[in-house]
Amino acid sequence: MSNDVILKVENLTKHFPVGGSRKKEVVKAVDGISFELRAGETLGLVGESGCGKTTAGRTILKLNEPTSGRLIFEGQDITNFKPGKMRPLRSQMQIIFQDPYTALNPRQTIGKIISAPFEIQDINPQGGLKAAVQSLMERVGLNPEHFNRYPHEFSGGQRQRIGIARAIALKPRFIIADEPVSALDVSIQAQVINLLEDLQEQDGISMVFIAHNLSVVQHISDRVAVMYLGKIMEIGETNALFASPHHPYTKALLSAVPQPDPRTEKTRERIILSGDLPSPVNPPAGCVFNTRCWKATDKCRTEVPELLQVGSSQVACHFPEV
Ligand code: ATP
Repeated sequence: MSNDVILKVENLTKHFPVGGSRKKEVVKAVDGISFELRAGETLGLVGESGCGKTTAGRTILKLNEPTSGRLIFEGQDITNFKPGKMRPLRSQMQIIFQDPYTALNPRQTIGKIISAPFEIQDINPQGGLKAAVQSLMERVGLNPEHFNRYPHEFSGGQRQRIGIARAIALKPRFIIADEPVSALDVSIQAQVINLLEDLQEQDGISMVFIAHNLSVVQHISDRVAVMYLGKIMEIGETNALFASPHHPYTKALLSAVPQPDPRTEKTRERIILSGDLPSPVNPPAGCVFNTRCWKATDKCRTEVPELLQVGSSQVACHFPEV
């Protein structure tokens, strides 16, 4: 990993209008997130269902137009780039989807699917397209002779490898992996994670890795960002964050992870959060976590906490755990 910042996300928001135009209500799916990503770095993005992880990923890639904030990719402000201006950058910024079943066109051969990025960008690889695609198939652990087969002839893990081959075809600088292994059998998950790690290391790709499974995130990420109701609650270096979470929400999330050591597993303190996730249409005032936090005071109900340095992490909490 180098110190070069490849991506800067500044106060990014994505609000979706709901309830018809007259009511002017919005879902605050992403509500002011900021972070930087260095070349070759993996940032894990975690948080319970509905906290805005997928929307954050899609907005960073400009598959959704940001509502406000700034996106700087390799020094260029791409926030207001129109689709035509984004097109050449698409080869540099890729996405791997969760579901390898629906992400691939069932009527196209694997060869055709992996050729698509070259064709869209009008790139003629040296040695010809077929050779380039077959070499990519080999790189991701697929048999290059299966060039003319269709997606249904492959297993879930192999289909995800096809999606990965398509994503790395044009040597991207940055990939968003949105729950890339959640749809796969547990026995296959580790193989696909290892493949992603190897490719990333070989090509120096930066990655935002979105996942529910905290053990997977801990394994693959250099840093982790914890989201809740569209905001980053805590962000920090993976080992430090897992060893001593500072935000009560991070603490609660991590308390749900089973420990491999039976002695620590036996004494593990489990924090069960009361209540449901509040609606992102009407998030709580002050700290958005206050309605479920056991430490909340009047200050938490009125003042929005800023992300501030606590230990080696940054934490948005008036009363962080130390
Ligand atoms: P999951 O882990 O279940 O995928 P997530 O953390 O990725 O959840 P998002 O899918 O980003 O969360 O959704 C965040 C919020 O934004 C949710 O309340 C969701 O219903 C809402 N949302 C997402 N896309 C849209 C849309 N196109 N229009 C309206 N609301 C949306």
